[in-house]
Amino acid sequence: MRFDATVLTLYPEMFPGPLGASLAGKALARGDWHLSARQIRDHATDRHRSVDDTPAGGGAGMVLRPDILAQAIDSASAADDPRPRLLMSPRGRPLDQARVRDLAAGPGAVIVCGRFEGVDQRVIDSRALEEVSIGDYILSGGEIAAMVLLDAVVRLLPGVMGNAESGAQESFEAGLLEHPHYTRPRDFEGIQIPDVLTSGDHARIEAWRQAEAERLTRDRRPDLWEAHRAAKSAKPAKNT
Ligand code: SAH
Repeated sequence: MRFDATVLTLYPEMFPGPLGASLAGKALARGDWHLSARQIRDHATDRHRSVDDTPAGGGAGMVLRPDILAQAIDSASAADDPRPRLLMSPRGRPLDQARVRDLAAGPGAVIVCGRFEGVDQRVIDSRALEEVSIGDYILSGGEIAAMVLLDAVVRLLPGVMGNAESGAQESFEAGLLEHPHYTRPRDFEGIQIPDVLTSGDHARIEAWRQAEAERLTRDRRPDLWEAHRAAKSAKPAKNT
């Protein structure tokens, strides 16, 4: 199985960047996934190779031109390309683990990285770009956002993470934040590892971890906690 990522950017030299190291980098070298970063500017038509222009209606900044971006998209992705076309954008739906899982199960993605004030609306519409945000703050370009998305996806690909269990337990996978972790030494500055974790009693350990995950989620993320409770009460009750 192979996840094929094509990134359209004005800064292809930023890639693979951090995706070339550690787990993602090893998986890339093994061919578990493929990455190609393509220069949008190669599709410019004037002698200055310009890709942006001033916003219609006035205002600050520049806007990526639709004709050039459409050319770049069309040359990277044929009409029958099954991969979703994403545009990194603060106006998009916030990326979450469910979308990451979906993407990881698919054939790959074509990812457009914006710059300047953003891209002309007509190319978003005509090429059916799905806008994806990585959070409520503004980056200077879509490249780092694309790397965030790819990093999250690639670690879920078969064979990429050593221990598949560690993926299933992660924060968000069950709609909860993850429980706290401890490791040796047993005494750190006078603070001990909670007794239950060294008890060897797996049922108690599991119950403690579940309770901690619920406590952290309730305290830190009331939004997730509400969703988790709603999902639980929607399911037919098993034990409780
Ligand atoms: N004027 C725009 C912001 C442009 S930032 C606005 O107010 O919505 C320039 C580019 O950076 C965007 O086109 C997008 O590709 C990328 N970017 C910035 N913040 C992002 C975020 N939170 N998530 C995903 N991409 C982002």
